[in-house]
Amino acid sequence: MNRYYAEVSDRAGHRCEYCKAPEVVFNFPFEVEHIIPPCAGGDDDLGNLALSCRSCNVFKAAVVQVRDDTTGVDVNLFHPRTDEWAAHFQLAEDGRIEPLTPIGRVTAQQLRLNVPAQLAARQHWHRLGVYPG
Ligand SMILES: [Zn+2]
Repeated sequence: MNRYYAEVSDRAGHRCEYCKAPEVVFNFPFEVEHIIPPCAGGDDDLGNLALSCRSCNVFKAAVVQVRDDTTGVDVNLFHPRTDEWAAHFQLAEDGRIEPLTPIGRVTAQQLRLNVPAQLAARQHWHRLGVYPG
């Protein structure tokens, strides 16, 4: 387990910092991920670390910027340390995470925040009373 896991997971309230998945219903700790990946110069500083569920981390991989299909401009992915989640996303009644900005749009697309498996999981978590937090 990552040596910063305890600090990063506590800071995140034990929720994925991208999709807000509640760690409590998983059978394995969430991952400490590099917001800026090491291959792009990111370090192990707490300011570059975020708690991520497996799904978000797999699709984020080493990506930091994505072409926004709406504008044709390259846009940075959501940065949990410098960006405010509620400024870029809102949770719809059906469980979709709706982007509010280009950052939200490219992040939702790259991390596949609204694929059927995500929506189904959120409905279960909602019934359990653990989502949204
Ligand atoms: Zn996630």
